[in-house]
Amino acid sequence: MKIPKITSVSVKLGSMVMIIFLLLIVAIHTALYMLFVRFYTNDQINELLQRSSSYSAVLSDHFEETTISHVLSLESSTDNLLLILDASGNRLGASDNLSVLSPDYLDKIITHGNEEHGSVLASDWKNQDYFVAQSAIQVDQQAVGKVIMLTSTDTIRTAVRTLGVTNLSVAAIAILISGALIFVTSNKVVQPLLRIIRTTQRISDGKHDWELTPKGTDEIAQLSRSINQMSANIQYYKHQRNQFLADISHELRTPLTYIKGYSEVLANDVVENEQDKKRYLALLHSQSIQLQRLVQDLFELANLEQGAFSFEFKRTSIEKVILNTLDLMSESIKKLGIELTYDPSPVSLYVMGDERRLQQVMINLLENAKKYTPEKGAIHISTFADEERCAIQVTDTGSGIPEHDLPHIWERLYRVDKSRSRATGGAGLGLAISKEIINLHHGEITVESIEDAGTAFTIRLGKIT
Ligand code: ADP
Repeated sequence: MKIPKITSVSVKLGSMVMIIFLLLIVAIHTALYMLFVRFYTNDQINELLQRSSSYSAVLSDHFEETTISHVLSLESSTDNLLLILDASGNRLGASDNLSVLSPDYLDKIITHGNEEHGSVLASDWKNQDYFVAQSAIQVDQQAVGKVIMLTSTDTIRTAVRTLGVTNLSVAAIAILISGALIFVTSNKVVQPLLRIIRTTQRISDGKHDWELTPKGTDEIAQLSRSINQMSANIQYYKHQRNQFLADISHELRTPLTYIKGYSEVLANDVVENEQDKKRYLALLHSQSIQLQRLVQDLFELANLEQGAFSFEFKRTSIEKVILNTLDLMSESIKKLGIELTYDPSPVSLYVMGDERRLQQVMINLLENAKKYTPEKGAIHISTFADEERCAIQVTDTGSGIPEHDLPHIWERLYRVDKSRSRATGGAGLGLAISKEIINLHHGEITVESIEDAGTAFTIRLGKIT
């Protein structure tokens, strides 16, 4: 595994956790230390005071040798050190373990302090080896001696050391946990993120040869899937764009080749026959018209897609749009021997739309129906509505569209039968433009078709009253 960079999320996260852990440990340690030391020293001193007081009380009642030795024997089973002195400081009795004390230290204790009942001579566990308590022996209100008791401060020092070691171990465990966290987050989070960064960099460089392999359903896996999807979409759009450019070049090349060829022939005076000349000029004219229409349609489509056209939306009568279109086209359709019928909805239908643009769509649908319907065929227009939407349907009994072509007919420059369509003058842009116009009306345009039987286009738009 690579060592994560200092900027890495995992290191930041791990350090944060480590700092929090350590701060917590320091706080807990300080609190425990203070509580423990206070509780333990108080406990030790009180116990010492209590014991020495109770011994001095007994001795006050019976200040005699047998009681002294009884007291000494009582204390012999403990680790405490016991010293019984008379009023002049002479030793009346001492526990066996008192010999561990140096004479100097013993002297200091004996001379130190007053005769006050139940006093503490030394309680500083950090610097002193013993807690020391003393209690006066009194007979008839007269101090006749004193009981001095000592207990080692070793226990508390050991306990404090153990506490420190325990807390240090906890700190070490915290550091280990933070390290493990760095490792886990690095593997689980940072490495996949680095892979994502590298992949997106490649995508932005135009390379789509890498795919992320998301596992699970967490956010990183979701992000990886989105990036794969995005990469696939970009690839698709790139392919579409290249295809489109190739199609456009092809579309432009054909009329341009004709124009170049015919104009050269005419310029070189090779054609002597006036009739042929006229024919060539007519061909030149029709090719330039085709070229002009193609460029116009492309321009229009590009503008529609970019939203560069402003639409004049107003309350528009569907009937009016259809009747205007029929005015323009019915004659030319009927001339071809195609029957044309219109079955309007019994109620007038209105939409919020751009009348001119909607008419452009109708003209396109009728042009297509006319192009692909043979003589003696029929074209039928009908309108109908439900609660919310109204529909215009254009059906024909023409050539129909093969099922596998149906999803593509809305694409720019897509034609089912290239040669036949070119012969009829279409470049495959009409339906793309129509769909764009209907989309901008928030409507939808759909197609149903059966090959060699006919086609039905349906436009659905939001109805207004
Ligand atoms: P074109 O200018 O070639 O007609 P369109 O975008 O209008 O371009 O149509 C795309 C293709 O869809 C046409 O080339 C044609 O193959 C097919 N098509 C459209 N309308 C019909 C129809 N009514 N009947 C049969 N085929 C159709």
